[in-house]
Amino acid sequence: MSQRLAKVPKEGATQQSKIRLVLFPLPLQGHITPMFHLATLLHSKGFSITITQTKYKSLDPTLFPHFTFHLLDDGLPDNATFDPNNHTMILDTLNTNCSEPFRNCLTQILSKEPIACLITDPMWSFTKSVASSLSLPRIVLRCASMSTFYVYHSLPFLREKGYYPLQETKSDEPVPELPPLKVKDLPPEAKHNLLVDIITEMENSQGIICNTFEELEDFYITRVHQVLPIPIFAVGPIHKNSPSFQASIWTQDHTSISWLDTQAPKSVLYVSFGSMVQVSKADFVEIACGLANSKQPFLWVVRHGSIEGSDEIDPLPLPEGYLDTIGQRGNIVNWAPQQEVLAHPAVGGFWTHCGWNSIMESISEGVPMLCLPFFADQNINTRHISDHWRIGMELDKGVKRGEIERAIRKLMVEEEGETMRNRITALKEKATLSVMEGGSSYKSLENLTNYLLSF
Ligand code: UDP
Repeated sequence: MSQRLAKVPKEGATQQSKIRLVLFPLPLQGHITPMFHLATLLHSKGFSITITQTKYKSLDPTLFPHFTFHLLDDGLPDNATFDPNNHTMILDTLNTNCSEPFRNCLTQILSKEPIACLITDPMWSFTKSVASSLSLPRIVLRCASMSTFYVYHSLPFLREKGYYPLQETKSDEPVPELPPLKVKDLPPEAKHNLLVDIITEMENSQGIICNTFEELEDFYITRVHQVLPIPIFAVGPIHKNSPSFQASIWTQDHTSISWLDTQAPKSVLYVSFGSMVQVSKADFVEIACGLANSKQPFLWVVRHGSIEGSDEIDPLPLPEGYLDTIGQRGNIVNWAPQQEVLAHPAVGGFWTHCGWNSIMESISEGVPMLCLPFFADQNINTRHISDHWRIGMELDKGVKRGEIERAIRKLMVEEEGETMRNRITALKEKATLSVMEGGSSYKSLENLTNYLLSF
């Protein structure tokens, strides 16, 4: 279903190891993770892999000896930091600075050997023009869901229908054209230019690889294909389809796993809001108290810089005596090996911001979710989790300790949570089957391989 229009491989093109692909991830964790998994997957299919990285947030090449790396001079100082609440600024700066270095890097590679295809992130807004100027085929890796892509593509239609400007008074009303969305889930106007750029980069590519699977998002894959008649390869969950490793910007704290080893099966709530979200100090305290009052064991990732107004060296603004109160029942770490954590038998629930990788990782392990979306695609993802797949619930009454405590208990020990657990366990089975021989994602990967051999 998902790789319509795929070409037939060129006669005799069986020597993948001589065929070089150049992959260019965006330097954000949620984009690095799936791109490196894809790189590993394609390497396992015999392709030679080159990764071009920005200096900003680059990974250590020695951890991936089977790839060739090129470092782009992104024009940023070594210790560059950005306001985590202003991701558009990071993207704008990198998009302005990296176009020429990327072109030069490709020219340098091409002077030594041919490149069969580029695989880029559609949030790079210049790779389309660089690829065409060098006559190189280009495929994009969509790191988020196909449902959000379809919503972004529908923005002109939603405007015509009068949804914009968004009206606060209508925020809880449904959007009948895009069930199960509510008006409050729609992307804010301030982001539309960015979203249009993403759509343009995807529309002008020769294919879309996505970290999803047909059994989860067939409806949207089909719809996207109707509006964009280019091949779509749903090869997810990508991390389940490739050997186990984590391509992590930050060092993962593996004591998380030894601590989980001491906990009862399905008793622990894992809490992480991903790599970009920041919470206010007031919300942080509510979260801390809600977790403590729920009486459930928890593993909580508090990333450096994730509390507004705090920096790395500041102590966490926890209530006095907090750590003594929670004792061994709670464990707070800076950064966890998340895929391993979610796969651990002690984990029974995931309180998440609903980034797409986190969702795919949770589905892959059958862990039901408590959703607290902040921005970007997270609202649309949450709506699908709570109202469509019904494998989690939204914390929709605000970040207040009493609400948090009630929601955690519902997810972890009450019948409603058990029903969600059963549903996501069934989905986990489908995800597992999809990457096994004969499964939908397995076949998509075969088709992608053939497609890449056709260039
Ligand atoms: N992650 C991790 N350790 C953590 C928290 C997150 O390795 O303590 C990884 C997680 O496994 C996922 C990625 O960071 O692959 C976050 O991506 P996602 O799309 O969920 O959210 P984003 O960070 O882009 O908002």
